[in-house]
Amino acid sequence: MSARAITLIPGDGIGPEVAHATARAIAATGASVEFDTVEAGSVALARTGKFLPDEVMESVQRTGVALKGPITTPIGGGFPSVNVALRKHFDLYANFRPVRALPGVETRFSDLNLDMVIFRENTEDLYSGLEHEVVPGVVESLKIITEKASLRIARYAFGWAQREGRKKISVIHKANIMKMSDGLFLRCAQQAAAEHPQIEHEELIVDNTCLQLVMRPETFDILLLENLYGDIVSDLCAGLVGGLGLVPAANLGDSHAIFEAVHGSAPDIAGQNAANPTALMQSAVLMLRHLGERDAAARLEQAILRVYAAGQVRTRDLGGNASTTEFTDAVVAAMEAVPVG
Ligand code: NAD
Repeated sequence: MSARAITLIPGDGIGPEVAHATARAIAATGASVEFDTVEAGSVALARTGKFLPDEVMESVQRTGVALKGPITTPIGGGFPSVNVALRKHFDLYANFRPVRALPGVETRFSDLNLDMVIFRENTEDLYSGLEHEVVPGVVESLKIITEKASLRIARYAFGWAQREGRKKISVIHKANIMKMSDGLFLRCAQQAAAEHPQIEHEELIVDNTCLQLVMRPETFDILLLENLYGDIVSDLCAGLVGGLGLVPAANLGDSHAIFEAVHGSAPDIAGQNAANPTALMQSAVLMLRHLGERDAAARLEQAILRVYAAGQVRTRDLGGNASTTEFTDAVVAAMEAVPVG
């Protein structure tokens, strides 16, 4: 049987370091995959003059699945976000982010064994990229919310919750102020909730949500949010379980999927072999499951859990001194210690 092709976009900053570590870990699972490696962002811009070269689009179009490292987006100018462009181009409307406490990782909430899932709408909202100057000194950014996209993500989240036997969805909004846009999102969520009466559903204003998340995070199960709130609340939730070095993500559409960490390119630690590759490795677990490589996914997931439970090897973000390479060595060794099958 020929190996399944996957597009690998290493990205920039810590991207190539965590992508290389994750590719090593995937190889150690024995999964039958081969990578088609392509570049995007500033690396590609310098080499080809395009921040998102055609070969990236063609590769993802062909393979249907990509594993992606973070890509820096210039602030206040420069080229638009490669991440947003990829999500829009392939209509990856569901951003799925499981936020789970890892064994042995000390946080302020370690005793709560947190297990939440974030569903973030991934294609519109203030990420529409529609900004213009009305008159000098006045600019407008357009927040686009459509019934189609809102209903699609809400049905996706409620359907997933039902299939996975989860209990509750918290729909997050600011419809007290944005009565039309967030009001529409809320009504679509209510429609999806009515189609899934087995799932408990609550509605929370986004600022109160942030308060509740740090006061009583254990009361949350699944969070359903628009694009911007989902982006911000994801980082907050990552902080509850130990930080951005740990939390994975999947950008899912009907025909394509891109797996990446929640974190960005972390320029402050790039090139130091210090990044925690766990988040991208956990994204690879999601990817392997998506590909039907269930044994390989379980091997990688169990290896990560064993390394954390053993408590010996920790990267700097978690108070340890292991390098990216040493952490990866430990994950690979944990897989080799358990026979396949
Ligand atoms: P960031 O997520 O890159 O970093 C925030 C903090 O978390 C930093 O202190 C960093 O050192 C730490 N951190 C992040 N990942 C880590 C890891 N794996 N191991 C250890 N520590 C880690 O956020 P930022 O600094 O605001 O953004 C930097 C760049 O990344 C920006 O250009 C932004 O646009 C981009 N970005 C890209 C993506 C993506 O590619 N999907 C996502 C978010 C941000």
